[in-house]
Amino acid sequence: MEEIDKEQTGDKSGSSRNFIEMAIDKDLREGVYDTVCTRFPPEPNGFLHIGHAKSILLNYGLAQEYGGKFNMRFDDTNPTKEKSEFMDSIIRDVQWLGADYEDRLFYASDYFGRMYEEAVKLIKKGKAYISTLTADEIRETRGTLTEPGSEDPGRGRSIEENLRMFEEMKSGAVEDGAMTLRARIDMASPNMNMRDPILYRVAHIPHARTGDTWCIYPMYDFAHPLEDAFEGVTHSICTLEFEDHRPLYEWVVRECEFVHPPRQIEFAKLFLNNVVTGKRYIKKLVEDGIVDGWDDPRLVTIASLRRRGYTPASIRRFVELCGVSKANSVTDDAMLEYCIREDLKETAPRMMAILHPLKLVIDNYPAGQTEELEIENNKDVPEMGKRKVPFSGELYIERDDFMEEPPKKYFRLFPGNEVRLMNAYFVRCTGVDKDENGEITAVHCTYDPESRGGESPDGRKVKGTIHWVSAAQSATCTVRLYENIIDEEKGVYNKEDGSLNLNPHSVEVINDARVEPALAGAQPEERFQFVRSGFFCADLKDSAPGAPVFNRIVSLKSSFVLPKEG
Ligand code: ATP
Ligand code: MG
Repeated sequence: MEEIDKEQTGDKSGSSRNFIEMAIDKDLREGVYDTVCTRFPPEPNGFLHIGHAKSILLNYGLAQEYGGKFNMRFDDTNPTKEKSEFMDSIIRDVQWLGADYEDRLFYASDYFGRMYEEAVKLIKKGKAYISTLTADEIRETRGTLTEPGSEDPGRGRSIEENLRMFEEMKSGAVEDGAMTLRARIDMASPNMNMRDPILYRVAHIPHARTGDTWCIYPMYDFAHPLEDAFEGVTHSICTLEFEDHRPLYEWVVRECEFVHPPRQIEFAKLFLNNVVTGKRYIKKLVEDGIVDGWDDPRLVTIASLRRRGYTPASIRRFVELCGVSKANSVTDDAMLEYCIREDLKETAPRMMAILHPLKLVIDNYPAGQTEELEIENNKDVPEMGKRKVPFSGELYIERDDFMEEPPKKYFRLFPGNEVRLMNAYFVRCTGVDKDENGEITAVHCTYDPESRGGESPDGRKVKGTIHWVSAAQSATCTVRLYENIIDEEKGVYNKEDGSLNLNPHSVEVINDARVEPALAGAQPEERFQFVRSGFFCADLKDSAPGAPVFNRIVSLKSSFVLPKEG
């Protein structure tokens, strides 16, 4: 275990440094930079998901490791898509994960003025020009992978003319799409991104933060390197799809003549088996009303994971175990569950809750008597102390802990059989009550008063141990059991039309679960093990004082084993 841990978590002492750390080590050694500054630059167009958590924790972790800085920056250069709802949720999620950006919360839109200046600088150097081609014409003249593109007529325009026309674009006199600013690079470059990419476009759309100050907006490939450079970012870590854009990133920071230009490093996105991570797909589930908002506990947005009951520590552990790589791969979703189990095993109290109650009557228990049994909160962690749990002659047990006609190897309650009521007494089943439809309404038993605490009084053994709550002293509450929202048999995407293969039974809501009294006072986000049923969390949103709603985070067992370094 210890060995695996070191490998998996990238132990910093040995040879297991990841490729990004090695690149940074080299930069520092060679004096390219004397400090490290990273950033997390979300586009505020949706909630963050587990993939973003990886990026956040990677960037934050590197800043921590090198005693550098971590910036939080909204990449809000696209005025059509942003919503303040998303900004609030993003900040909440980043803070909850513990990625402390201190006072460095930035907005790319605050740099619009400086970006404009940089564009003017490029025009003056002859490195950018105004194009009057339409978007379609630009696409059509870009060439192919085997053939160079053709030159934009604007390429030949004088610097003075370009400056005047750029000013005109900015002034509002130009219609959307009628002019763009293009970089003058190389229409024959084998890298299509270098064939005179568009730097600025006209869009008469007010911006959430800058209002109608601007009607020209920078394109991502121009804006992003500038944002990094303005902030003194040293290592701009992004995902693999930007690898082909790196030459353009480097062109921008070079031509804009930054003294300490940032450098871009790409890593592989996190993909989870059987899980919807793409923002686009999550958004569709929300918009189609298939889930109950961006924070529905069945999703893997950070807000969903939080509601479901994941802890920041479990997500950090998960990201560590994933490691960073330059090659795309798919991570087993069971690893995420493994991480929360490992966390809660030692931190969550183990309580009794009956999800599908069946009455158990102890016929020889003194009528009207109640006693309090002292039960350890977590037998693996004695420091967690004990609590008192009421016990009486009328209990609830799980419906499937009784069978009138048991199959072989069924060791729980059936007529004539004796079992242990967990931490309480031995009971032997004597019969059942049925209603007019033949449905079992109660199970009868007798108990052995000598077996208090669930200890055998005379060395006789029982094979089954079941849990219980006292009928009169238990509370009724709502419990939600979740399954994957994706139909795992079919896989995430429908091969015909690219839609999602959904599991129609992804949530079971139980309104009449019976829980031991202490659970009725659970605070939102409090986590428990319900013995034999799994780990549960009192829902952040739907719980009311004295009436918690419990979400099952994960069941107790899994066949998952920690993968070896691959
Ligand atoms: P999505 O792919 O879900 O639409 P995005 O890339 O459009 O996400 P941004 O807000 O642009 O989302 O991303 C912010 C940062 O998070 C970027 O640096 C991006 O590379 C990173 N990121 C996004 N998805 C993942 C992922 N699955 N794994 C790791 N990092 C990711
Ligand atoms: Mg994006």
